[in-house]
Amino acid sequence: MKNDFEKRFHRLQHRISVAQAARENAHGKVTLIAASKTKSTTEIRKVALAGVTNFGENYLQEALQKIKDLQKLNLCWHFIGAIQSNKTAAIAKHFDWVHTVDRLKIAQRLSRQRSDNAAELNVLIQVNIDNEPQKAGVSVDKLASLAKDIESLPRLKLRGLMAIPRARVDAAAQDEVFAKVAACHKLIAAQIGKHFDSLSMGMSNDLEPAIKAGATHIRVGNDLFGPRN
Ligand SMILES: *Cc1c(COP(=O)(O)O)cnc(C)c1O
Repeated sequence: MKNDFEKRFHRLQHRISVAQAARENAHGKVTLIAASKTKSTTEIRKVALAGVTNFGENYLQEALQKIKDLQKLNLCWHFIGAIQSNKTAAIAKHFDWVHTVDRLKIAQRLSRQRSDNAAELNVLIQVNIDNEPQKAGVSVDKLASLAKDIESLPRLKLRGLMAIPRARVDAAAQDEVFAKVAACHKLIAAQIGKHFDSLSMGMSNDLEPAIKAGATHIRVGNDLFGPRN
């Protein structure tokens, strides 16, 4: 008998492999990032032991404790929350990826604060694809110029884009917005080069259309851990 977690995990893996198999072009493999905000070290360990190695955290203090407690597991940590200037030093020190860079000032701080002994910090630019005033992210019209500026920073490796599109009821409209993010990615990749290879989009409720459009990283919380407290 499988427990609830095993059932959820298998269902999720199945959804990902079906979506992956259905995409027309060979986009490569999709990396599952477990969005583990509010989840305990015990819950994260369980998911890690099932084979997940990438974890996304939104809140710095909470994340630092988990990173410390789980050090021995050699996990890859992604910062996926809002970034305040006074948090960049700790983010640059403890994370492998940052998905939520949307202004140059933050990128400059991360670059300056990343240790020379560590690998370059992988960063994604968050795009506010629907121009929602309450959401973070750079607007599409400012994207190319921000990408160019970030690419010139020494301790960062600009890897791609991250987006959280507004939910659509209509499947065609959902596909369309993810395709729009993918088109932005393609345009900037032509400018930046081959290392601009990552597209972080898709969560529990919309991972299929995101994968279909070419997501390389999906960030899943609820459908992996169960509903948040
Ligand atoms: C919480 C969170 C997710 C995961 O969302 P679910 O709906 O729980 O899958 C993904 N991305 C970000 C930025 C998040 O904060």
